[in-house]
Amino acid sequence: MRIAFLGPPGAGKGTQVELVSREYGVSVLSTGDAFRAMMKGEDKLAQKVRSYVEKGELVPDGVVFEIVREFVDNKDSFILDGYPRNLRQAELLDDFLEVKGLALTGVVNILLDEDEIVKRLTGRLVCPQCGRVYNIYYSPPHKDEVCDDCGVPLERRIDDEDDVIRQRIKVYHREMKPVVDFYQRKGLLFNVDGTGDIHEVFERIKKVLDGK
Ligand SMILES: [Zn+2]
Repeated sequence: MRIAFLGPPGAGKGTQVELVSREYGVSVLSTGDAFRAMMKGEDKLAQKVRSYVEKGELVPDGVVFEIVREFVDNKDSFILDGYPRNLRQAELLDDFLEVKGLALTGVVNILLDEDEIVKRLTGRLVCPQCGRVYNIYYSPPHKDEVCDDCGVPLERRIDDEDDVIRQRIKVYHREMKPVVDFYQRKGLLFNVDGTGDIHEVFERIKKVLDGK
């Protein structure tokens, strides 16, 4: 199993990657984690990465790929989380793995619509009876999703101030559209519906991955 996971912020990709890793016993490269570890390292690659970050410059795709290459090199099983992030990275990865005879066996693309992402990321809950507003992260109700005052189930709500999240989602889709198309053309793309709870989504992913 050699797979990459794609999905917009808030779609639960990190959680699903963890579950898949445990279920199938396959190790994960999270490029975010790799970067953070790299910032403390002393080898040549670490110094190179740091030199960009310290100047506030974007780390070039070729350098990011060196991190990924170290991880995937000669492994016959791996999961990539957060990579590739653009078409250039996808092409670099593809060329490298093809030569090794270890091409990706699948790309899981978690789909979730914008309103649902905003609801999840803001964590905002409102009482339909008294209008009291809660946040599941910062000011949760005493009892799971039930109003402290009225005892009625709370509802999720979207607000106008969610533009920042919507902007992030737009940027994500703009960058990732060519990547999605790239894997689609190769017959590697598996779209998975990201609605519902963690276990529902995981069941869908397992169906896709069994035999990959
Ligand atoms: Zn209430």
